[in-house]
Order: sequence, then C-alpha cells, then structure tokens
Amino acid sequence: MNRKVHIIGGGITGLFLAYHHTKRGDSVILYEQSEKLGGVIGTKTVEEGLVELAANGVLLTDKIKLMLDDIGLTPLFPNKAAKRRYFWVKGKISRLPISILAGLKLLFAIGFKKIKFNQTQNFETWACQMFGTSVTKNIIEPAIGGVYGTRLDALQAESIFSNWDGSGKNTILKEIKKKKGKSLGTVSFPQGMGDLVSYLVRYLEPRIEIKTNYPMQTLDEILKWEGKIRFCISLKSLISVLGNRIQPNETPNLLSITTITRFGRFHLTKKPCFGVLFAKNEGIRALGVLSNSDIFPGRSKHGLHSETWIYPESAKQSENESWESILEKDRERITNKTDSPNEVYITSWNGVFPAYDRKLFEFNRIMDVMEADWLKKGIDIRFFGNYRKGIGLRSLFESTSSE
Ligand SMILES: Cc1cc2nc3c(=O)[nH]c(=O)nc-3n(C[C@H](O)[C@H](O)[C@H](O)COP(=O)(O)OP(=O)(O)OC[C@H]3O[C@@H](n4cnc5c(N)ncnc54)[C@H](O)[C@@H]3O)c2cc1C
Repeated sequence: MNRKVHIIGGGITGLFLAYHHTKRGDSVILYEQSEKLGGVIGTKTVEEGLVELAANGVLLTDKIKLMLDDIGLTPLFPNKAAKRRYFWVKGKISRLPISILAGLKLLFAIGFKKIKFNQTQNFETWACQMFGTSVTKNIIEPAIGGVYGTRLDALQAESIFSNWDGSGKNTILKEIKKKKGKSLGTVSFPQGMGDLVSYLVRYLEPRIEIKTNYPMQTLDEILKWEGKIRFCISLKSLISVLGNRIQPNETPNLLSITTITRFGRFHLTKKPCFGVLFAKNEGIRALGVLSNSDIFPGRSKHGLHSETWIYPESAKQSENESWESILEKDRERITNKTDSPNEVYITSWNGVFPAYDRKLFEFNRIMDVMEADWLKKGIDIRFFGNYRKGIGLRSLFESTSSE
C-alpha cells in the first residue's frame, strides 16, 4: 500500500522505521533537525583505533540478519574470548559471583516463581524478593545497571519488563519463551556501529525523501500534516515538543551517562574477555567496562588494548575531578598497578537515557492515551523510541516493525 508517512527524527529508531515502511511500499519523508543521521550512534576513527560514541553492539536476531542482508552489511561476530564475562564482587574479578545454592535459587525463581509487580517497589526490592539478596547484589545489579545506565534503586521492574504479565500468573521462563525471535548474540560491524547507520542511509536515500537540517516544528504545526506522523526523537526532545501537553509532575526522569574509551598497553584482566560489570558499593564508580579489542577484531591499532568504561552521572563527586582520574583510580583498584593510558576519548551524554522507573511507566500510559485520542480525531500519530518498549537496538528494531 502506498501511504504517506512522516518520520520525525533520523536516529536509529527513525531509520529502522523508515526501512520497515519502504519494505511495505509506503512513501516516506524523514525529517532530521541536525545535519547528521544516526542520532547518538556513531563511530569515530582515531589514531589508536575505533571509538564508539554510544552503542557498541546490537543483539542479532533472524529478522535483523535479513535487514542486514538487504542493506548489504556483513555483521562482525565477536571473538571466542568474548564469551568470558566477569563480575567484580568483594574486591575480586569472578565469572560466577554467587554460591551454588544461590544459583539454584535463581534457576528456581526463573522457572517456577510467578511474576508479581508492585508499584511501590523499586527494582532492587523487587529483585531481592524474587531472586534473593546475593543474586540481586552480585548479578542483577551489575548486569541491569550496566544496560540502563544507573543503579537498581533508581529503576522499576514493571517499567523495564512492561511486556510481561506481572499479575502473578506467569513465570519469567514463560515470558521469555513468549518473546519472538531468538537472539543470536551481540554483533558489530567492520568499521563499527557507524556502519549500521551509513548502510541504512545508503539503502534509504534512493527510496525515501530525507530532509536534514530540518528546522524544529511545533506539535501544532505537525498535527496539520496529512498522512501518518511518527515521532522517533529522544525522550528529552519529546518532552520539549510536548510542552504543556504534559504536567510538570508527569515529566519523566532522564539520566546522563559518560563513556570513556581508553587505549593502553596493558589488559585490565589476565585473560581476554567481554568485560567486567561492577556491583554497587564495591569501591568502583563505573557501572561496567567493555574490553573492546578482545570482543571484536580491528578495534585498536599498534598492539594497544581498547576498553570502554561506562559511568553514571553520580560517579563524579566534585567538579574538580576529571573523568580520566576517576577511571585510572578504578583501574588501579582492579589491577593493583598504575598504568598511564596512551589516549582516552570521553563522550558525555546529557539526559540521553530514560530512567526506567515508575514515572516512565505512567508517562507511557499517557502517551498511549494521547495516541488513541488523536486517532479518534483522525490524526494518526505514534511515538517510538527507547523510552517506549526497551532501550536497546533490538527492541527498537522490533517495535518499529510491528506497526
Ligand atoms: C552510551 C550508550 C551506550 C549504548 N550502548 C548500547 C548497546 O551496546 N547496544 C544497544 O542495543 N543499545 C545501546 N544503547 C542504546 C541505543 O544506542 C539508543 O537507545 C538508541 O541509539 C536511541 O536511538 P533513537 O533514534 O531512538 O534516539 P537518538 O539517537 O537520540 O536520535 C533521535 C534523533 O532525532 C533528532 N531530533 C530530535 N528532535 C527533533 C525534532 N524536533 N525534529 C527533527 N529531528 C529531531 C535528533 O537530532 C536525533 O538525530 C546505548 C546508548 C548510549 C547512550
């Protein structure tokens, strides 16, 4: 069917949505306010190797593989050594930071315990109830914190697992089985994640109309457009576009994050690995570190080792502290050695992540109601992005394919 679709925002969400619509034969116009497409995703080539500005990888599924084949992009699979993933617990690096008994409790919880969400509980309290304190502190806290850019007490389970039935009927295993499309693992691309953007753009350019440097429009002006209207802008931009359509107390919380790519001579861990995730109150301020040059080939040059450290806003305790010094202190604590890096590249993102808390859950309900109300008035408008149905690229690909 040839329908007109206006897509506002040329980040990866907008590009994925444009891709799905071109496959259906729709006529798409993509509006991007900056001169560059891809949003936060991008790869910088520096003297020492590659530096990712945001996502380092994407979870591959059969459907994403089909899209990659279609746009002519070959995924880069991780090295075998990347199967080794570490946790930092009790001052030590460990592959399995829980006892056998706690591990059995975790398996039991996944397979047999019914999921029940509680509006008043933060993720930490919910997880302790579901899996026990040891599993929560040593596995769930570092794993979820690394993905969502903050600590568990700032998150809410129902918001993160909004697709799950949390009324006490289903187990986690049942919910996982419901998810369509098995993950084939994390992949990147030969020249980094920037390849995903440039190949998608190259595929889309002859098929859709792309307007970059497009001046910011008010929502009132956009509502007059004919055809489908699809917002694919970040939550931060959306809050300003919505203006007084949402009350100040309904405004969702945003998180800031800093990533530091460090090139140095020495490895962080004795054996090559995917990276290390850090539990709370364990003397490390980072949420996690990725061992880039162990994961994918071609990430560094001159025999250097490349790492990307991820820090929440709260890691900086005073303005006088530099991110480099915070990182080197963390590193020294792990290796018991001081070691000057060859180079570090810092990317600070202000308000880049939606905080997956109760407020975001409520905000999404408001957005659902707004979409339905506009549809009743004949305006087909929808909102897509990492604040709706998951933060990662796989979720963005799946949510944009399902409309
Ligand atoms: C540091 C970091 C690491 C990450 N790591 C991973 C990872 O390893 N794997 C993974 O799957 N995900 C990862 N993510 C998450 C993922 O990268 C993001 O969720 C995703 O890229 C968000 O894309 P988006 O298009 O929704 O938003 P954005 O990238 O923010 O793009 C929105 C676009 O809309 C444009 N825009 C805004 N307002 C307007 C307007 N009014 N008119 C027109 N255009 C407008 C902006 O200029 C921008 O280009 C990471 C994110 C960060 C920040």
